[in-house]
Amino acid sequence: MVLHLNGAFLRRLAAVALASVLALTGSPGRAQQAVTPTPSAGSLRAAIERGLAAAPYGFDVLQSPAQAGVRVQDVLVEVIDSDATRITIDLSQKTLTYDPSGDVDALIEAIIASTVPQTAGSGDVEYRFLVDGVPLHEFLPRAAAAPARGRAEGGPHRVVVSAGHGVYWNEGFGDWRLQRPRLWGIVEDLVNWDIAHYLAAQLAGSAFQPVLVRQPVQDDRPGESGRPPWQEASLYYMKAIGTPPAVWNIGIDDYSRDINTRPLYANWVDAAAVISIHNNGGEGTGTETWFDATNGHEAASQHLAEVINRAVVAAIRREYNPNWPDRGLRSCNGCKGENRLASRPAIIVEIAFMDTRSPDNEALQDERFKQIVARALRDALFEWSGIPAPAVIQTH
Ligand SMILES: [Zn+2]
Repeated sequence: MVLHLNGAFLRRLAAVALASVLALTGSPGRAQQAVTPTPSAGSLRAAIERGLAAAPYGFDVLQSPAQAGVRVQDVLVEVIDSDATRITIDLSQKTLTYDPSGDVDALIEAIIASTVPQTAGSGDVEYRFLVDGVPLHEFLPRAAAAPARGRAEGGPHRVVVSAGHGVYWNEGFGDWRLQRPRLWGIVEDLVNWDIAHYLAAQLAGSAFQPVLVRQPVQDDRPGESGRPPWQEASLYYMKAIGTPPAVWNIGIDDYSRDINTRPLYANWVDAAAVISIHNNGGEGTGTETWFDATNGHEAASQHLAEVINRAVVAAIRREYNPNWPDRGLRSCNGCKGENRLASRPAIIVEIAFMDTRSPDNEALQDERFKQIVARALRDALFEWSGIPAPAVIQTH
């Protein structure tokens, strides 16, 4: 009941805010916004509702979110300045239990993907998710602030380099599978590993000690899944190297355990930062970088995201494709576990779109592109930290 009253109150507030935004966008300053077109709340809502008609990838055994009762209550678009937009999406309570494990990452990721084409020109986008008017992050667990194992004094700073996804046990299908689809011969789970591998090589021996969260050795002996361990998700590697269950066994199914393992491991080794490497979906093009606006390290995370996004886009434009699109920064209030559960600066870089054939997917087929990105990530990490970068290490 309290939630209901609170939600109604916040919805009234949102309606007032919407009225003021409508007044603003009708003002003479409007012409400037032609440079960065902003989606309308109505078109965003329609796009999200179309997306809710299908189950997220890998969750096909479930009803679609729309069939299960996930509803869009309200969408609010606020133009913050000429290069920043806030999108508030108020969802129904079913959002929290659509995935019976109670994990919201897959559903929220699908919702974000359905807004991708419309946010291409929105500059930086701050997503604010509500559930019946209450901010999403208030429903989600936090990480314990203190690490379980301290960093050795005076040694190199550990930086967790997290290659997103990997083969996992899918409870719905009862089989081992990759977390993402194969597109034009490549799959995000393995492309992410390649880039993390190149970044780790760039950092080896420097002031930053790269800490990988998936098996770093590429050989063909079968792992727990029967597939090579380097293709497997993080939780199986963490289990194999003897980290405690408090790192790899938090979550109700392996999909959520795998997401949680990465930031929890970063907390356990007291990493200076977490760089999560991903590639995008939603039929957009270009690079965007995510941070969490509510994990207690938002300022340092935002700074890291800014430096990384700028460095990656600049390197790709300089060395690979002068027309590479910069989608800007993305933030949300707890929507991605990899950032939310890190009790330290954490970002997710979405380098290119797997599901856009040219130029994105084509670039991800090219080892030179992945190496350019890895070197940019290394340079950005040093720029962010203020530690002088050593000479570039050639890996090819
Ligand atoms: Zn991903």
